[in-house]
Amino acid sequence: MDIIVRPGDSFWYYSQLFHINLPLILDSNREINPNQLYAGQRIRIPGFIVQDYRLNQGDSFYSIARSRGLPVEAMLLVNPGINPNRLLVGQTVNVPLRVTWRLVQGRQNYDYSRMMNDIRQLKTVYPFIQMNPIGNTVLGNQIPELLIGNGNKRVHYNASFHANEWITTPVLMTFINDYLLALTNSTPIRGLVMANLHQQTTLSAVPMVNPDGVSLVLNGPPENETWRTRVIQYNNGSTDFSGWKANIRGVDLNDQFPARWEEERARNPKEPGPRDYGGESPLMEPEAIAMAELTRARDFARVLAFHTQGEVIYWGYENMEPPESEVLVNEFSRVSGYGPEQTIESWAGYKDWFIQEWRRPGFTVELGTGTNPLPIAQFDEIYQETLGIFLAGLYM
Ligand SMILES: [Zn+2]
Repeated sequence: MDIIVRPGDSFWYYSQLFHINLPLILDSNREINPNQLYAGQRIRIPGFIVQDYRLNQGDSFYSIARSRGLPVEAMLLVNPGINPNRLLVGQTVNVPLRVTWRLVQGRQNYDYSRMMNDIRQLKTVYPFIQMNPIGNTVLGNQIPELLIGNGNKRVHYNASFHANEWITTPVLMTFINDYLLALTNSTPIRGLVMANLHQQTTLSAVPMVNPDGVSLVLNGPPENETWRTRVIQYNNGSTDFSGWKANIRGVDLNDQFPARWEEERARNPKEPGPRDYGGESPLMEPEAIAMAELTRARDFARVLAFHTQGEVIYWGYENMEPPESEVLVNEFSRVSGYGPEQTIESWAGYKDWFIQEWRRPGFTVELGTGTNPLPIAQFDEIYQETLGIFLAGLYM
């Protein structure tokens, strides 16, 4: 919600007035010098929206504010230019409304356009989120990264590396929404105070690494005839893309990383297809390159890649992982019920490469059980299992 600064106002005053932690207000107005506010300036208050309200007989700013548990100053701030002593019946005024509900509706076929729409809405209500495009897909879709927090501990979560594991995207988006709600309403999640996490950590989230692949699974082949023909051919002539994990060029993005890539290639298909083809060389596909460049730029303390399925957490790579990885995975396991697995016969994945290059904790978390794509009916159960891992990844 935007408000207009009055003489003598300060961010601290707004923080007290709206019960929003000061760091969230500062982060929502990064371009503004908090010591040089001037009257008439427009600033953002996170966690609120403004609603229209038509005045009835007997309404005053005081009565409207009082009925909503707000100080009367809040009404003045969202109605600059309106004289509170000269209100007219039928006149429309602005009313601040604290947002206490989720904007993200995760329990549905959650494709790229839905995610982008949700990100736009979250950015509007929670302007302290930063959105950063990390690159474009083969089909030219922008891959967004969301950043939340100010802390030195940089934690990275990603989802939908694999197309038919797209349920991981609404699960991660729902966590982001719940985290934002907890921050602006000062409500704990599972007893944890989120303001502390916000100050200690920076969460980087790429909720959909493979938008083209997710679109293929959820919406079918692209309109473009060349692409349409190509993906059906890669899919062995079938128009059923429910088994598709790869990007739109038939390259498995989680087989694209230079961590024993040659061994992984040797045991995998040599042609583009729905899954397991790692390309002709590592880091050739734009989505994999974007993830590698982001990871090199950000200095992550740890990374968690969310996949489906199996209810297991892979935490090792060639004994290169630090001792901290085992401590973390035991906590992830405790809070989710998922089983820790140190290694499998698989290489060239994102977490493998992260552990190899940085010797820091990296995890592949396999959510839920069943056959991919997991039915959306599992959403609530998976979210409850994963919530503990999302939190532990930040507080541990
Ligand atoms: Zn996967």
